[in-house]
Amino acid sequence: WQTGRMDNAQKFYINGAWVAPQSSETLDVINPATEEAIATIALGNQADLDSAVAAAKAAFPSFASTTPEERSELLGKIIEVYKTRMGDLAKTVSQEMGAPMGLASAAQAPSGLGHLMATKKALDEMEWQEELGSTTVVYEPIGVCGFITPWNWPLNQIVAKVAPAIAAGCTMVLKPSEVAPLNALIFAEILDEAGVPAGVFNLVNGDGPTVGAALSAHPDVDMMSFTGSTRAGVLVAEAAAPTVKRVAQELGGKSANVILDDVNVAEVVGRDMFGMHEQRPVVQRRQPDAGASSMMEEAMAVAAGVANSIPVGQPDAGVAIGPVVSELQYNKIQALIQKGIDEVQPYGLKRPRQAGRTRDGLFRQANRLRERHQRHDDHLHAKIFGPVITMLGYDTEDEAVEIANDTVYGLSGYVSAADQNRAIAMARRLLHRHGAHQRRSSRQQRSVRWLQAVR
Ligand code: NAD
Repeated sequence: WQTGRMDNAQKFYINGAWVAPQSSETLDVINPATEEAIATIALGNQADLDSAVAAAKAAFPSFASTTPEERSELLGKIIEVYKTRMGDLAKTVSQEMGAPMGLASAAQAPSGLGHLMATKKALDEMEWQEELGSTTVVYEPIGVCGFITPWNWPLNQIVAKVAPAIAAGCTMVLKPSEVAPLNALIFAEILDEAGVPAGVFNLVNGDGPTVGAALSAHPDVDMMSFTGSTRAGVLVAEAAAPTVKRVAQELGGKSANVILDDVNVAEVVGRDMFGMHEQRPVVQRRQPDAGASSMMEEAMAVAAGVANSIPVGQPDAGVAIGPVVSELQYNKIQALIQKGIDEVQPYGLKRPRQAGRTRDGLFRQANRLRERHQRHDDHLHAKIFGPVITMLGYDTEDEAVEIANDTVYGLSGYVSAADQNRAIAMARRLLHRHGAHQRRSSRQQRSVRWLQAVR
């Protein structure tokens, strides 16, 4: 890792300065493509977190009283500096979590810039005061916000929280993922260079049970925003409850993609194969025309073809799938695939390597298992978070709805149909789960996927 300022890796950004931690704990950041440490970060403790929260609390009154125009100008400066560090951010994300360089440069790093620009625009258009009958409603910043983020789209998750907080006039403490923390350090360097006032943004690295839990429980934090696993999200909400904080959560998703029988299933599956790895395609089982292969068979064949042709390898070599982020995650994916193989035969696909590790990294060829009828099995319900697709067949649309809604991961839902009325009718029947977190962001709204592109 040579793109950030190396000496900042073992410091925290508190009150506008890079400070030495009070804790002496450290953690190696592993490049999953080589399984070698690329940096060592400091892991904070309660005292480190207390300093950061105190800085955010002290900075709040003056930052809250800045004008929207001043904060818009500040976002403008952050955008300018962010643009100069895009290459560093992409390279760092690729190194620490294994995203292929193409994805890191074209999507991961720009996602942060996209949030900054969209937030600035929203801020410029925002009405801060509203008349409701005889009442004047004034929008005010909430206060000190605590942010906890995961490793998969690290900049996306971080900037989606930090940019709106700056726009609103909140101050904040970020605890990024300890698995991919280096991009967050560069982002802190960006905010520093852009002139974000001292104490407005603070960063403390650490693990979930120590810094994450302490942030969630801290009495001087007014709101928590968490993205990550449902397991940790529940712990954050529990820790936040005694101090009655607001909690926004964006948790696990394994959403159904119901493919209706009026589409060209091969085109839909071919098009969606990449995005489908955190979806459950639900496909019509019936034969559309006598003699033709069933939609399910067609979907399977296309998915197998795409899966086997996706180049997997070193993330800098123009591949589409890099290594799995960590050995822990790799083992989890392997165990779930093995469980699937034990229960059903893989369909038309190379058997996954039992000991699938290559000599120098944690690589996982895209996999897809045969459709299965039974539900309530781990393969369907576990959030695999790896390149594995589980495809399910339905006979009637009622059954498709039942399968789609039979999940605890109802983050969103997709319908692929040529007929828009049918698509909407089906989309309306897809439920959200974990209602408390479902309404938090527009990304979680029920979405209908139109098929103009493939008709
Ligand atoms: P994770 O929940 O283990 O970790 C996410 C963050 O939570 C990390 O910063 C971690 O340190 C922190 N954390 C862990 N335990 C905590 C605790 N007790 N208190 C406070 N913070 C704690 O998830 P991960 O492995 O980093 O990411 C993968 C998971 O995140 C997947 O399960 C996926 O479903 C979910 N995810 C969801 C979205 C989304 O947009 N909804 C996006 C990315 C990831």
